[in-house]
Amino acid sequence: MEKKDDVVIIGGGPTGSFVAEKIASKGYNVSIFEKKDKIGEPVNCAGLISPRIFELCNINKKQIIQNKIKGAIIHSPANNTIKIGGDRVHALVINRKNFDQALIEKALDEGTELYLENKFISGEKNGEYIEIKISKKGRHKCNLLIGADGPNSRVRKTFSFQEPKEFLTGIGAEIENTNLNPNFVEIFIGNNLAPGFFAWIIPTNDSGTTARIGLCVKEKTKYPANYYFNNFLKNKITSNYLKNIKINNIIGGIIPLGPLDKFYKSNVMLVGDAAAQVKPASGGGIYTGLMCGKYCSSIAIEAINNDNFTTYYLKKYQKLYQKNIGRELEKGMKFRKIFKRLNDNQIDYYIEKFQNKKIIEIISKYGDIDYPSKLASKLLKKSPSLLKIATKLIK
Ligand SMILES: Cc1cc2nc3c(=O)[nH]c(=O)nc-3n(C[C@H](O)[C@H](O)[C@H](O)COP(=O)(O)OP(=O)(O)OC[C@H]3O[C@@H](n4cnc5c(N)ncnc54)[C@H](O)[C@@H]3O)c2cc1C
Repeated sequence: MEKKDDVVIIGGGPTGSFVAEKIASKGYNVSIFEKKDKIGEPVNCAGLISPRIFELCNINKKQIIQNKIKGAIIHSPANNTIKIGGDRVHALVINRKNFDQALIEKALDEGTELYLENKFISGEKNGEYIEIKISKKGRHKCNLLIGADGPNSRVRKTFSFQEPKEFLTGIGAEIENTNLNPNFVEIFIGNNLAPGFFAWIIPTNDSGTTARIGLCVKEKTKYPANYYFNNFLKNKITSNYLKNIKINNIIGGIIPLGPLDKFYKSNVMLVGDAAAQVKPASGGGIYTGLMCGKYCSSIAIEAINNDNFTTYYLKKYQKLYQKNIGRELEKGMKFRKIFKRLNDNQIDYYIEKFQNKKIIEIISKYGDIDYPSKLASKLLKKSPSLLKIATKLIK
């Protein structure tokens, strides 16, 4: 009889590999179909994460961590700056290729079957199971199909899930010959520089001589993203940091924002970028993808144990998500709505307001790249004058 997997995962990115490892570790058969010929390449990511990711995925940090970040310098459109942090390690810069490869290794160690150069083409429910069509492998059956196939997820489209609310376009580069403070990332905000989002310079070594730079823009901008990137390289605020640099490698990609209202259907689940489980304020999706991967895999395991893949059963995944991280991402989307409405003068004005010792102390103490809403509530509590600003912005 033709083999039927317990679980098929589409996409061998960090989320897909992490979910595969968790399910395969319980002894179930898991196959990953990945359209590319290599895991982790090409890299389309700035590689900035919080240290807590390593608590989640328990991989060897040695070949992965490139640099430690203690703070950020935020530049307004008129180049007013605020410097936050500096006290402790707030973020890590990682080698994304090595990170993705470490995660797939763990999945393979647990018995996951990996099929490279195998693209998911289509799929449908066939009685109690899912039958999919894969470019090279052909037809394949599974009880549970997990779409971890990134921002343009074909699984999402095939099974008529809702689309993310927004897609950002990102473009960047790996550079060398810089002279940066290795412990600080530089963030540049402004509608001429990076409309609807921000630009970044992230030092990738502890001597500040190499970096990852880039920016993201919202949809429907006046010019394409590469116009803003070229401008970023020679703009009067950023050029100071980017004189005489050598560009080694251009990166780019799409970031989906606005998590779907529903990540599950009968015999199908979506996870990671495929479900837009991304932090709306920063565009970071590695931590949220792994956290959601934890919830997705735990419910997948329960579903296999109980041989129950109904919509009703898989709903538990969404409930776990909502209880643990969903509210944070919803708050992030609210913050984003306000942010998108600000013009450059308003951004300058508010950044100037933040140039206050007490406020900067609070940001440095409570700032958390994974849970920014915690900082917002501390700021509002400890500095009531900000409440006035917030109320004005919400109007
Ligand atoms: C410019 C840029 C900078 C970023 N910087 C950061 C950052 O600093 N920190 C951070 O946390 N996040 C960052 N992100 C976001 C981060 O890269 C994603 O959130 C993360 O990669 C999501 O992981 P994933 O496994 O869900 O999806 P992906 O990494 O997209 O993996 C999906 C996999 O599915 C495969 N696939 C797609 N379609 C098919 C198909 N039909 N059949 C088979 N396989 C398929 C793809 O080839 C891919 O390997 C950045 C993104 C961009 C674009």
